Amino acid sequence: MLVYLKTLGCRLNEAELETWAQAFQKAGHAITRDLQQAHIVIINSCAVTQDAVRKSRQLIRKLHRENPTAKLVASGCYVTLNEEEAANLLGVDLVIGNQDKNRLVEITLEALNMDSMPSFSTNAGEQSLFSRGRQRAFIKVQDGCRYRCTFCIVTVARGEEASRPIPAVIDEINALAAQGIQEVVLTGVHLGGYGSDINSHLTELINAILQNTDIPRLRLGSLEPWELPNHFFQLFENPRLMPHLHLPLQSGADSVLRRMARRCKTSEFSQLVDQARNNIPNFNITTDIIVGFPGESEQEWQESFDYIRQTGFGHIHIFTYSKREGTKAATLTGQLTNDIKKQRSRLLHLSAGQMKQTFMESQLGQEYPILWEGQTEELDHGRKRVFGYTPNYLRVACEINQDDSIENKIIQAKLLAVNDNHIDAELINFDC
Ligand code: SF4
Repeated sequence: MLVYLKTLGCRLNEAELETWAQAFQKAGHAITRDLQQAHIVIINSCAVTQDAVRKSRQLIRKLHRENPTAKLVASGCYVTLNEEEAANLLGVDLVIGNQDKNRLVEITLEALNMDSMPSFSTNAGEQSLFSRGRQRAFIKVQDGCRYRCTFCIVTVARGEEASRPIPAVIDEINALAAQGIQEVVLTGVHLGGYGSDINSHLTELINAILQNTDIPRLRLGSLEPWELPNHFFQLFENPRLMPHLHLPLQSGADSVLRRMARRCKTSEFSQLVDQARNNIPNFNITTDIIVGFPGESEQEWQESFDYIRQTGFGHIHIFTYSKREGTKAATLTGQLTNDIKKQRSRLLHLSAGQMKQTFMESQLGQEYPILWEGQTEELDHGRKRVFGYTPNYLRVACEINQDDSIENKIIQAKLLAVNDNHIDAELINFDC
């Protein structure tokens, strides 16, 4: 059978798609990027915002419209929170909630009576990521969250914390490394809670991966800024652990953080940032900020804005607060007008752009091993521009001859000049 996989939402959804791709191949089926050819279509949906729910429904309808003969399986957070509605959407043959995601392939093949078909695929796990044009692999190591941030629906959709045993993670990473993958990103709903249910913790997992795999680059996905074990930043002394952390702050005003039920005050956040920057050179910290949270007064906004600027970030994902039914924040008084939210978002985007520029400029002249990716831009005179990422997660570009390829290679480069959202660089000791 030819299986087409599609996801919306977070890196965890992306990581699950990768695990399913490998499992379908192990079961003798093949992954296709051509929807028209597919016999089975799998959707991993999202429900983080009302808009994500709308997009999930739209995607289900679109994929069925474009291939009405394929068997359509819907999974993910939208489906988990709206199982009946999803099951009644036109074209949906099977719905699988988050609680059964680990068995999605088995349930699908059984329920759709597909496991009796003759196999004609490639070897299990072969090229599945490359067949989907990826150099970096997201690895799901943890699911669920014990916290109840008042704006968050994910904790509702994903349930209790559950960690994958370390050997299973090691095996998956070694299998991907054997395929030629150079970088893996550890993901979870609450990555910092890794091990809470299996008497382990994130530091033990990271050490085990660095000791028992040869993966050249290990990156951490989004990490809530609390519960990080002592000596956490010593882990980054190993150059294979990438010196970048995405630490969602959400607001720079403690009174707003309290209404969000966040487990981190600005003073604690600053301590983390200082630890990282004092111990590891060129460490990049990026974050998430929600602007316009219910009740966010002018004074709280100014306090938040000033704290964010004073801290400085390599990049900020800015979310304008939108009411999410099923969350506590949706019931809070003091919901702000869209005009106020838009105005604050505009101001923060401006400032975030300046902070990013400042961080990128601080990196000029540095030499880094870059993981070069597949994306290219055609240039004149038989040249092309190729893109990649530094260890501290800066996007860089270099020029090479049209006929050459450095895709999925790690090659040293010197950072020369900021060019819009990336840094132009030149390859070192690599003639092309
Ligand atoms: S810690 Fe993260 S996943 Fe958990 S409730 Fe808060 S925002 Fe949601």
